[in-house]
Amino acid sequence: MLNLRDALEQAQKKGVAIGHFNVADLVMLKAVFAAAQELKVPVLVGASDGERAFLGVRQIAAVVRSLREEFEFPVFLNSDHTHSLADAVQAAKAGFDSIVFDLSALPFEQNIRQTKEAVAALKSINPAILVEGEIGYIGTGSEIHDRAPDLTKGLTSPEQAKQFVESTGIDILAPAVGNMHGMLKSMVRGETRKHLDIARISQIKSAVRIPLTLHGGSGTDDQDLRNAIAAGINIIHINTELRVAWRRGMEEALARQPDEIVAYKVLPFAVDSVKQVVRERLSLFNGMQEESPQRH
Ligand SMILES: [Zn+2]
Repeated sequence: MLNLRDALEQAQKKGVAIGHFNVADLVMLKAVFAAAQELKVPVLVGASDGERAFLGVRQIAAVVRSLREEFEFPVFLNSDHTHSLADAVQAAKAGFDSIVFDLSALPFEQNIRQTKEAVAALKSINPAILVEGEIGYIGTGSEIHDRAPDLTKGLTSPEQAKQFVESTGIDILAPAVGNMHGMLKSMVRGETRKHLDIARISQIKSAVRIPLTLHGGSGTDDQDLRNAIAAGINIIHINTELRVAWRRGMEEALARQPDEIVAYKVLPFAVDSVKQVVRERLSLFNGMQEESPQRH
């Protein structure tokens, strides 16, 4: 069975990126898994602090493992934005394939020191686990924001990236390259899109030569995403677009069936709505021909 490291190597060789989609419940997980299965591409399921707390760390690990084993399918699980070593250890022990160890809010030297310690601790639990480190500033939560944060001062430089990777021993780096968590209202309405600093991605890739993750992919211009993959991005995170799709699917279900009380007759609308977004994003990340309209 393919592991996440192999899947990343294959993605780099093929010039495609692995889609990373956050889930908060089984509805979203079913949607992500079904879309990946239909397109026959590896996929990363993500759960960050709030999502892990709601799902249960060991419970989501058990469900994803059961999908991987029953369907012999390359579905992987990532502990997204893990802010403490204790939480990271918990996820590693539960069987997560990768950990995003995020101390990017700390001063650079402190981030280096603690991330290096985390890499050693996590690899002692599972030598195959992949650890992603975070530097730079890419805004706050995967929510709908009134205005854009000032990202200019938090952009990652190639020198900083190289120093961070060499000092910590991380497997994957998440740089700040114009990307941002969450979406602006105008992006949800489809009027504006995020744009990325493609030249900066190329320079960082040449400096570090390890897999790169793009966080905050929701609402990003399609062509910028293709260019980012060509420049060296290997994993792309989509969360807010799924949350918007989940909400719209639920609203549609309740509006169409105002008296329905059977959960498994209501929830499939949300599954379909989320699945549609995942399919479009996976098609784009994997260079497939499928029609990929800008949708939000
Ligand atoms: Zn993120």
